[in-house]
Amino acid sequence: MADHTDPRWSPATTTVKVARPPTEPDQPLNTPITMASTYVATGDLEYGRYGNPTWTAFEEALGALEGGRCLSFASGLAAVATVLDLVGQGATVVAPRHAYNGSVMQLADLEARGRLSAHLVDVADTDAVVKACQDAALVWLESPTNPALETADVEAIARAAHDAGAYVVVDNTFATPLRQQPFALGADIVVHSATKYLAGHSDSMLGAIVTQDNELYDVLKGRRDLVGAIPGTLEAWLALRGMRTLHLRLERAESNARTLVERLREHPAVEEVRYPGFGGIVSVVVAGGADAADLLVRSTSLWVHATSLGGVESTFERRRRWKSEPATIPDGLIRLSVGIEDVEDLWVDLRKALDASGCGSRRSSASRPRGG
Ligand code: PLP
Repeated sequence: MADHTDPRWSPATTTVKVARPPTEPDQPLNTPITMASTYVATGDLEYGRYGNPTWTAFEEALGALEGGRCLSFASGLAAVATVLDLVGQGATVVAPRHAYNGSVMQLADLEARGRLSAHLVDVADTDAVVKACQDAALVWLESPTNPALETADVEAIARAAHDAGAYVVVDNTFATPLRQQPFALGADIVVHSATKYLAGHSDSMLGAIVTQDNELYDVLKGRRDLVGAIPGTLEAWLALRGMRTLHLRLERAESNARTLVERLREHPAVEEVRYPGFGGIVSVVVAGGADAADLLVRSTSLWVHATSLGGVESTFERRRRWKSEPATIPDGLIRLSVGIEDVEDLWVDLRKALDASGCGSRRSSASRPRGG
């Protein structure tokens, strides 16, 4: 890959320009999709599980935006599992009780098998998290959290964690490197579900880990080589292509979200609006609880009832329809992933559904764990 970055560029320019083939006659502008399970021997790659030029292009792009070395994975949860595997037998991991429920479920599963001890905290209560750091080998932060949208004082917590000799990990999926730079706040590792904002089109699954520490990079790469939680080549290509417009998508989603937040706060069917002040995710607690929320998500024509988030299209769901979502998340909480459509169209569709959501309805029968 040619080095197309200039440290004086803004993130928007880096996002567009980074990780492209050299600007030379007959070179394509974009890194091609390289389908390969094996390579001619004695080079750097050798086998398809150890590397791929299309993954490398995605990794260089995200690495440039976060300011570290990146490894891509089959999904966000594959990246989460690889990071949690860093801690020694019986070690304590501190994590937000409202982190993405797939991450919390991984911790619970590892704890149940005697692998580690999970200490779940209210991540917005900095004093409590700092206190919990004393016994930790790894402090997992997600800020904002999914779907409660709590934020953490990453800098203060990272200082306390480092004093205790613990690694600090930040799941930066919601904020993206354009709204939060975890390494500048003291993180050792950044994790992404690239499935969300980075890829941005609800058409591919991918995860990523970024670190500035070369030794950690080698250990994590070694785990990926061994376990084989590697991305698909097409997915890496789609995610890189999606990332080229991350700044535009995020700006539009954020501006739409801010307008909707103001209006939602005024609507009588809404009890509570949670918004961290940036990004395109908004959580609302509707009056009337689960029934009203279930009716609402079935009453729109523009908003799509779907799990996951960070795509160009607006989606929403009642999070407690997933049995794995903790009881501390209100029953009537709907997480909105605000897309890049016209905000007036979004509001008209949502307002109509909110106006009608006071009536009772059937409960959702979904029982599979997690959701995205
Ligand atoms: N981290 C966060 C904050 C998420 O929201 C998700 C999925 O929703 C994940 C990690 C897991 O990522 P994936 O679904 O790509 O495995």
